[in-house]
Amino acid sequence: MKTSAANAEWLARSTGAVWHPCTQMKQHETLPLLPIARARGVWLYDYEGRRYLDAVSSWWVNLFGHANPRINAALKNQLDNLEHVMLASFTHGPAIELAERLGKLTGLGHAFYASDGASAVEIALKMSFHFWRNSGKPAKQKFVSLRGSYHGETLGALAVTDVAIFRDAYGPLLNNNLIVDFPSDVAQKPISTGISGHAAPNAASSLPFRRGSSFGGEACCPECVVDAGTELEYLFETRATEIAAFIVEPLVQGANGMRMYHPDYLKKARELCTKYEVHFIADEIMTGFGRTGSMFACEQASARPDLMCLSKGITGGYLPLSCVLSTDQIYDAFYADDTARGFLHSHSYTGSALACRAALATLDIFASDNVIENNRAKATRFSKLVLPLATHPRVKNFRHLGMIWAFEVDSNKPDFARQFFTASLQRGVLLRPIGNTVYFMPPYIIEDEEFQHLVTQTLATIDALCRSI
Ligand SMILES: *Cc1c(COP(=O)(O)O)cnc(C)c1O
Repeated sequence: MKTSAANAEWLARSTGAVWHPCTQMKQHETLPLLPIARARGVWLYDYEGRRYLDAVSSWWVNLFGHANPRINAALKNQLDNLEHVMLASFTHGPAIELAERLGKLTGLGHAFYASDGASAVEIALKMSFHFWRNSGKPAKQKFVSLRGSYHGETLGALAVTDVAIFRDAYGPLLNNNLIVDFPSDVAQKPISTGISGHAAPNAASSLPFRRGSSFGGEACCPECVVDAGTELEYLFETRATEIAAFIVEPLVQGANGMRMYHPDYLKKARELCTKYEVHFIADEIMTGFGRTGSMFACEQASARPDLMCLSKGITGGYLPLSCVLSTDQIYDAFYADDTARGFLHSHSYTGSALACRAALATLDIFASDNVIENNRAKATRFSKLVLPLATHPRVKNFRHLGMIWAFEVDSNKPDFARQFFTASLQRGVLLRPIGNTVYFMPPYIIEDEEFQHLVTQTLATIDALCRSI
């Protein structure tokens, strides 16, 4: 992309000083960074006056647009009263009110705050283990996750993540956990290829009762759901005495390529967790706050988790905040005269008043604008607008859930994702494919014409790239 002198200076200074996330920095020799000057609604504006439709909600965090007037106003007001105070020995209105409202929405109690998704996952894992330790079952130390799962990048979260590119380099540092099959057979190029860091192959993966079945385009493969449930039950039956928790991204695996599966699996997993005394941890960091069509994805399976991790959309994309909600049973197991039985975990910015205020303003918008219901009508309209993509000869496995649309592009380019990213930016849309998987995960305030622009430019990008395949 052509850049002016001012732009070139930002680029040089950024690569000289900032270590960018999830990036091989050398690639910025040929793929320039994009300095953003300001943003409003679904649009990001660069210093050259060009604009880009943020079709991935800035890494899945933005729900109601950039510079949202209502969230801005709430934050400005909060800023004049209290920005932050330590949450040990002190408390404040925004942290209390947010915990109460999240409790009402989820049916779970006590919110434990942190700053990022990965730290919420760490907290849930530690809480689960510590609960069993406090309950006289210290042997329950292992965690079970799905093949292809993503739960964050810190060492504990990475140990329940199965995405090779993020995990492999750190294999020797990670605890051994257990992996069970994904309950669908989405026919797409896997970007995760097993786990080199796992010393002992888990008993589960060598079980004989897997059946093949073709993926019909919907997130549904009844045999896969049954088989994966049977596999999970076998694992619990044989090893529940050493298993603390099952952690799962409900209904859709995000970072591994928007892989969707049927809610029946969650229902089954919930039943099995109860039966075998294993905690059910719902990692709703990506799926929470309406992304899958209900406020929380677990609702679609009527599966109430024991622990729920929330982050990303919680502040509408404004400030880092995460939280773990727990059942009263878990909370009560820590409540004692003995300090060491308590959950002594902490982060300096736990329960930041500003971040909690942004979250409250976000929840206000959900309530006053009837967002979940309106999104349903919107998604129905958008699903008609995307038909030309769904039926495009280069597009495979088109799928949709709530405010997520995803598909694979049939291309052999080894650097498809980067080429697509660059080509779509030139057409004014920000799309960041995962492998060959292109997905739309726009802010909910996106209008029909904006969504149409997204579809038109995505089609143009596919056609331009596929001409050169
Ligand atoms: C993004 C994500 C995380 C990690 O959250 P961070 O804020 O990036 O640490 C964990 N789990 C899921 C399902 C996610 O999508």
